[in-house]
Amino acid sequence: MESVDILSIAAHPDDIELTCAGTMIKMVDKGYTVGILDLTEGEMGTRGTPELRAKEAEGARIVIGAKFREHMNLGDSRLTASIENRMALAEKIRSARPRTVILPYWKGRHPDHYTAATLGYEACYAAGLKHLPVSGEPHRPKKILYASMYHDDRPSFLVDISPYFDRKLAAINCFASQFAGDLRDVTELYPAWGRLIDRITTQCKYFGHLMGVEYAEPFTVKEAMAVDDIVTLPVVSV
Ligand SMILES: [Zn+2]
Repeated sequence: MESVDILSIAAHPDDIELTCAGTMIKMVDKGYTVGILDLTEGEMGTRGTPELRAKEAEGARIVIGAKFREHMNLGDSRLTASIENRMALAEKIRSARPRTVILPYWKGRHPDHYTAATLGYEACYAAGLKHLPVSGEPHRPKKILYASMYHDDRPSFLVDISPYFDRKLAAINCFASQFAGDLRDVTELYPAWGRLIDRITTQCKYFGHLMGVEYAEPFTVKEAMAVDDIVTLPVVSV
């Protein structure tokens, strides 16, 4: 794995596109390097062949501008924060050496999502332990952000993605075959494509509205945020 500034870790291919792709594209535009690590192949909640899913994930990687995209095949819909998985993920983190890691939010309906948050946090910590019995130099990411688009909690901060929203949709669009094309086919697992795009657009607009821009993505952190200059703080008080 190449080293990157930001490593985005998620349970399923397309999670990153739905929750934080706009922010990743923006960071690439700023000159940072980003990588994507999908913990599973998404084999339970998606359609088509493994080859097709891999092709779609690679297409989205190119749209985002990520240096690499890997998947770990840890088992869609049966992801656990086991010691084995923690070690395997810690080795990947040592290899990518990110300063910032983006994880799924620690609350959610799909167990894989909140499990990935726990597993990701524990692996970030373990990766920094000198005597951990995995390969690579010890490395602990400085910052862990939780992409909290799926959950209705007040986020810690918002990222304006207005100029990048079309590219976020283009990245999601790479996974179009995974979603039901017509309304007769709508189930919990396969929302209709149009409905999904509607929902994402509405959510990004809502978070954009909170900060006075067109589209934004929300993030949550567990620690306090530091501010150096209270005069230039953005977002008008209400
Ligand atoms: Zn997911």
